[in-house]
Amino acid sequence: GIPPLDLAALIRTIPDHPKPGIMFRDITTLLADPVGFARSVDALSAPFRDGRIDKVAGIEARGFILGGAVAHQLGAGFVPLRKKGKLPHKTVSADYALEYGTDAIEMHLDACQSGERVLLVDDLIATGGTALAGLSLLRGAGAEVVAAAFVIDLPDLGGAERLRAEGLPVTSLIAFG
Ligand code: 5GP
Repeated sequence: GIPPLDLAALIRTIPDHPKPGIMFRDITTLLADPVGFARSVDALSAPFRDGRIDKVAGIEARGFILGGAVAHQLGAGFVPLRKKGKLPHKTVSADYALEYGTDAIEMHLDACQSGERVLLVDDLIATGGTALAGLSLLRGAGAEVVAAAFVIDLPDLGGAERLRAEGLPVTSLIAFG
C-alpha cells in the first residue's frame, strides 16, 4: 500500500498574519513538497473519480494551483473564479462579506453550461463566505455543484456547516481547531 503521510506537518503556521490574532495556515510548504503536493491532489480527487465531473471550479489564487491539478486527474475542464476585474470577457459577479465591507468574485458568463457537474476547489475554508459566493455563481449558471473540496477546514469558523446547509457536500483533508 501507499505509506501514510502527515499532510498537516507540511503546513506552516504563521502567527499574527495578516494581522494580530490570526494564525495563518500557509500551504506553500505543502505545495513545495513533491510527495505532499501529489498526495494532496490525489486525496482531493479520489472521492470524485467515478463522479463524472465535467469541470473543476477553482477560487483565486491557491484554488487555481490545486484545482488545475485536480481537473487534470479527473479529466475535467477548469473554470477560474477570480477576484473582481480580472476576467477579460463578460462576467457574472457575487459579493461576499469581509470583516469590514465586501468583496466580489467573478466567473465568465459562458464558463459553465446548464446541467454540468462541477467540483468546487479551494485551499482552505474558514467562514465559507468565499465558497458560498462561488456556489451562487455556479448554481446561477445552472451547474450541478457536486461537492466542495478543501485541503484545510477550520471547523470552528463554521464554513463547512454553512455549505452543507446549502445542500453541498464538503470534503477536507486536514482540520485545524
Ligand atoms: P472564508 O471565505 O471561508 O472565510 O475564507 C476562505 C478564503 O480565504 C479562501 O479563499 C482561503 O484561501 C483564504 N484564507 C483565509 N484564511 C486563510 C489561511 O489561514 N490560510 C490560507 N492559505 N488561506 C486562507
